[in-house]
Amino acid sequence: MRAAVYHGNHKLEVEDIPEPTTGDGQVKVRVSRNGICGTDLHEYFDGPIFISPSDPHPLTGKAMPVVMGHEFSGVVTEVGAGVTDVNEGDNVTIEPIYKCGKCRPCRTGHYNVCQSIGFHGLMADGGMAEYTVVPRDQVHHLPDSVSLEMGALVEPMSVAYHAAALAEVNDQSRALVYGAGPIGIGLWFALRGMGLTDIDVVEPSPIRRASIEALGARTLDPTTQDVAGLIDEATHGDGVDAAFDAAGVPASVESATACLGERRPLISVAIYDKPVLTPLINLVLKERRIQGTLCYTAEDYKAVIDLMAQGHYDTTGWVDTIPLSGVVAGLEELRAGRRMKLLVDPTA
Ligand SMILES: [Zn+2]
Ligand SMILES: [Zn+2]
Repeated sequence: MRAAVYHGNHKLEVEDIPEPTTGDGQVKVRVSRNGICGTDLHEYFDGPIFISPSDPHPLTGKAMPVVMGHEFSGVVTEVGAGVTDVNEGDNVTIEPIYKCGKCRPCRTGHYNVCQSIGFHGLMADGGMAEYTVVPRDQVHHLPDSVSLEMGALVEPMSVAYHAAALAEVNDQSRALVYGAGPIGIGLWFALRGMGLTDIDVVEPSPIRRASIEALGARTLDPTTQDVAGLIDEATHGDGVDAAFDAAGVPASVESATACLGERRPLISVAIYDKPVLTPLINLVLKERRIQGTLCYTAEDYKAVIDLMAQGHYDTTGWVDTIPLSGVVAGLEELRAGRRMKLLVDPTA
């Protein structure tokens, strides 16, 4: 079968490799769509970061070379011994986390921060291939009303949903989202799904602002507008109930911590390449806080799939599909900011 195999920095080759075989407790999936993620860009341009060049991962036993791809959907073609609740022909999406089940985070239900966490598509052969094999506990069924294209977006949308849920907001809350990339868009959909109507998305790029506005969002341009002043005025000095950093730059952290109400959180869902210099006195004086967020659990997957089944998510204008042979060109396009979200079709 054909697959995109990672061999190191700037080395992602589309090659023929043997089809994987289905072991006990495993499910074989014919991949329909696999999204390219910011993590994949980091591995290709700056890595290896998560993919180990030589040390086998403790849970998967796998190191480089590895088939990339952790955001995918597909159709079940085979189930291993002991799998009784997944059947050939089922449409599924994959929650790509390997967890140890023994560490404190795993024991307390927070396996998204498992001390030995691994990912299908980074520490095991992933979804940029015609077929892949996953453990049963990574499989989530897609209802008939959710397309396989939409199903490939459950993973990144669950990252955003988990972040939104950590803010403990309700339908009366006002929120600020920094960054209108795929995670910023996901935050907007998740917050809307939780009933919020008062959301501003702060984004300097006119292209990104236009694309989230087309979905119905209200935006602010931090290069020409005084975000903190506008929020102060609009909330009569109370500030917003939650802010989200999906931009990962010092300006967003500083602005967000200035716009929050007292005792309210900034949820950080960005990968910070460098240390951020920011006035933490913004936190102290109003008991504000910064909260990190990582991945998702099965609960977030279920919430996102339910919202998708209700037709809540719209891919218009920000999601495109490319063939597997175009994966390297796709990485370059994303890096250059010419595309927002690309899904790889391994059969094309
Ligand atoms: Zn990802
Ligand atoms: Zn664990």
